[in-house]
Parts: sequence; C-alpha cells; structure tokens
Amino acid sequence: MNQAQPKPARGGISIRNVSKVYDPEKTSVAAVLDCSIEIAPGELHVICGPSGCGKTTLLNAIAGFHSITSGEIYLDGELLCGPGKPQATPGADRVVVFQNGALFPWKTVLDNITYGPIIQGRMSKEEARDIARDKMVMAGLSGLEGCYPGELSSGMSRRVEIVRALVNDPAVLLLDEPFRGMDDLTKSIMHESLLEIYDQTQVTFFLITHDVEEAVFLGSKVSVMTTRPGRIKESIAVDIPRPRDYRVLTTEGFRGLMAEVVEVVHDEAQKAFEAGEREIA
Ligand code: ADP
Ligand code: MG
Repeated sequence: MNQAQPKPARGGISIRNVSKVYDPEKTSVAAVLDCSIEIAPGELHVICGPSGCGKTTLLNAIAGFHSITSGEIYLDGELLCGPGKPQATPGADRVVVFQNGALFPWKTVLDNITYGPIIQGRMSKEEARDIARDKMVMAGLSGLEGCYPGELSSGMSRRVEIVRALVNDPAVLLLDEPFRGMDDLTKSIMHESLLEIYDQTQVTFFLITHDVEEAVFLGSKVSVMTTRPGRIKESIAVDIPRPRDYRVLTTEGFRGLMAEVVEVVHDEAQKAFEAGEREIA
C-alpha cells in the first residue's frame, strides 16, 4: 500500500448560498436552492443525492460550464463566481473527469494524457511526457504508454482519464459519477485504485455519486443533498483512517456510517421518486 501524502494548503472550495434556476424566463426549473458547502483543501468530498437533485448543476458551476443565479463560489478565497460574475472561468486548476470522458481512439495513452497541456502551450512535449510518466506509475499504468484506448479495459481507461486530468496539476478534481455503469467487481477495483491515487496526490476531490457505499468508502466527508431544488441536508464526516482497502467494507464502523447516510438519503430518494425526477445525463 502506498504512503499517504501530507495534504496541501490549496484546493479549498467554499460554496455559499448558491442557487441555480434554469430558464428563469420560461419553464423556470429551480435546480439548486441556497446551497452551502465548505470543502477543506485536499479533502475527498462526496456529494450524494437522488437523481435530478442538482449535483451535476453544482459541479458544472464550479467548473465554469454555466452560471449560477445567486450566491458565491470561492476557490482558496478567490471568487470563482458570484455577484457581478455569474459564471466561473473554466481553468486548469479545476479539471473535470467526465463520465464517459472520451479518449482519442487514434492516439496512444501517452499522447492522450499529454495532448491538453501541449496543445494549450502550457508545457513542452518533453515536460508533459515526464509528468505523464510519473503520474502513470502512480496510477499503476506504467507500461501502457504505447497502447491505444481500444486495447484498455474500462477500468484502465478511467485511470487514464484521471491521470490525464492530474497532468494539469489541478487544485481540484471534479468527478461526476465516475464509475457509473461499471459492473460491481470493476467498480470495487476502481474504488481502491481511486483511493490510491487520491492518497498520493495533493488534490481536492469533489466526487458525485448516488451510491451510498461508494460515498462512504471513498469520502472524507459525505454531503447529502435534498431532492430538487437541491441544498445540503446533512454533511457526515467519515472518520475511517486512510489508506482504506476493501476490508473496511465489512467493519462495524463502516456499516454504522453507511446506515447513518442511508437514513438521510432514503427520505430524499423517496421524495425524488414520487416527484418522478430523472437525470438528464
Ligand atoms: P443530478 O446531477 O443531481 O441528477 P442535475 O444537476 O443534472 O441533477 O439536474 C438538476 C435538475 O435541473 C433536474 O431537474 C434537471 O432536469 C434540471 N436541469 C438540468 N439541466 C437543465 C437545463 N439545461 N435546463 C433545464 N433544466 C435542467
Ligand atoms: Mg448528474
């Protein structure tokens, strides 16, 4: 098991009273309402909530993919968006790992990973390759530099996508249901793999899921969102020491925390079900 790195003094996110109304002039969908979350630098913060409660909306606001209607979001004390600046500027300090983050099938793994920083002129080819190789070792991907995405398993592809994000040296990694659609066994391998990567980086992880076991196994803190319009119903600290491995899953402490989170999520899931909420993506 790899040694955990000391956590950094960057990557703190402060979400203050954020609301987001889609299409305010016409259909007016209040997706997020007066939502506040404090995320400490280097934390693995999980947002857990039923379908359609506004999780992706929140992540997209941090990433700068769309505006917020009111409230403020700060990264390390700097305003990302708020009054006078409704939309954050997307930047390499906040990188999104997409659910089906398409890798270029015609490029090798190494070229996929280094493509962004090279094309954006932020790194020389050599520099990008050096950093990429280091991160690939960390993620258990060494030896795959010359492979093409079509030769990789879904788990390996996801790791390549995470490494591709980390090459940018972000303060925050934004992960929107990164293991959705994977079979349970692959998923459990991916959980451990993600934790190993997390333990070795100095990056804040903001991870969305509606899987309670995943939330508790991975998270330093789990914030449960209410059904739409989403706000935080409760934030639960997961005081299970790291590094964590699958054996944690059967411990009494883990089951107790899961029961606590399930209790909070279940009510909201019921309400979402009754309201017929569904996810767009
Ligand atoms: P989650 O990720 O928690 O499933 P989303 O943030 O995707 O939820 O969506 C929250 C709510 O906002 C849902 O009711 C969804 O239908 C609605 N919504 C999302 N995107 C748009 C959009 N572009 N226009 C109108 N409504 C939207
Ligand atoms: Mg979503």
